[in-house]
Amino acid sequence: MNSQGSAQLIVKERGQREVFCGLTGIVWLHRKIQDAFFLVVGSRTCAHLLQSAAGVMIFAEPRFATAIIDERDLAGLADVHESLNEVVDQLLARRPHIRTLFLVGSCPSEVIKLDLERAAERLAQRHGPRLRVLNYSGSGIETTFTEGEDRALTALVPAMPSAPAPAFLVVGALADVVEDQFRRLFAGLGMENVAFFPGNRSDALPAVGPGTQVVLAQPFLASTLKALEDRGARHLPAPFPLGAEGTTAWLHAIAQAAGVAPERFEAVTAAGRARAQKAVARYRSTLAGKQIFFLPDSQLELPLARLLSEELGMVLTEVGTPYVHRAIVGPELERLPPSLRVVEGQDVDAQLARVRAAQPDLTVCGLGLANPLEAEGLRTKWAIELVFTPIQGYEQAGDLAELFARPLRRKARLEALA
Ligand code: SF4
Repeated sequence: MNSQGSAQLIVKERGQREVFCGLTGIVWLHRKIQDAFFLVVGSRTCAHLLQSAAGVMIFAEPRFATAIIDERDLAGLADVHESLNEVVDQLLARRPHIRTLFLVGSCPSEVIKLDLERAAERLAQRHGPRLRVLNYSGSGIETTFTEGEDRALTALVPAMPSAPAPAFLVVGALADVVEDQFRRLFAGLGMENVAFFPGNRSDALPAVGPGTQVVLAQPFLASTLKALEDRGARHLPAPFPLGAEGTTAWLHAIAQAAGVAPERFEAVTAAGRARAQKAVARYRSTLAGKQIFFLPDSQLELPLARLLSEELGMVLTEVGTPYVHRAIVGPELERLPPSLRVVEGQDVDAQLARVRAAQPDLTVCGLGLANPLEAEGLRTKWAIELVFTPIQGYEQAGDLAELFARPLRRKARLEALA
């Protein structure tokens, strides 16, 4: 054990970061919360980032847009609040069904010190009770890409009612298909009093109160968890529902806290667990023994590393992650090899030097680092894909393993052709 109470050596690095900003979270949040709209107050760069990140995924009119701060705003020549009023008026005229408007701060809005909290209050007054207006920062100065969701959910917590508080609150945006699967499992376990946050509607938020136990479905929600604890809820630590064993451990922690009999837990989870084990096993021959290196990006790194070493036999060269919140990822660290080198934070040049020295079979990293590494002959996996794809739960375990196996199979095919 080190001073932080875990067996692994956790090294902190504070250098240059190479990570997407928190605006990226809008791509999955706008699909989940269907009566919300995300208005980024930012530059054309922010608009381009969102368009390219969301690009292939937009099949209907998106529930996000960018109010562009232009040169006149930056020079202090225009009243940004006035322009914001106009943009919001037009938006609401076109989209009267919006119930929550998130004003999302960016690097440019921070640079000109635009007070978005005040703007949100003013807009809420102007548009009355039918529209809730909240604000949070998604800027690259303050946030890494999954922290956007954390900030958005934190902003929503004060709007959650106090009663009737559910016994369990599953927190973190899950694809609807995954949420439905978990709901069926909880119903099978006889647990009716489980709510999900966020759900599809922001005008029907679940309640939270002193009787509520919070179980995270995503590991990057430290600030949301704190806000829920401030409302009296208690955190129920658990490994994350990735893979056959991670999903079982996550469900087990919840079922145990609910007092579900072990026989019933076994009866309800056995079939899903067996299906997931079988689906994951198909990828063992491709992945077992292969070296994988995680650069810090999504905060999903530790749960994914646990899945890949525990269920697929991969060898973890190094696991970098933006933050190590021990209260949240402690149960994952307990299952990871004690000799593992965990790096919290980033010093991108030093990390890339270690990747080059280690020559791992696969490196998980952001888009910006993937291309140069691929050009050097290293295989990469984009971390962002792991956030955009439904990966939690028994039925997704095989798809998740496939995401890691695909680049290695492609490499093998290319080598066979050479
Ligand atoms: Fe770039 Fe900052 Fe806009 Fe993110 S918020 S796209 S980092 S300018």
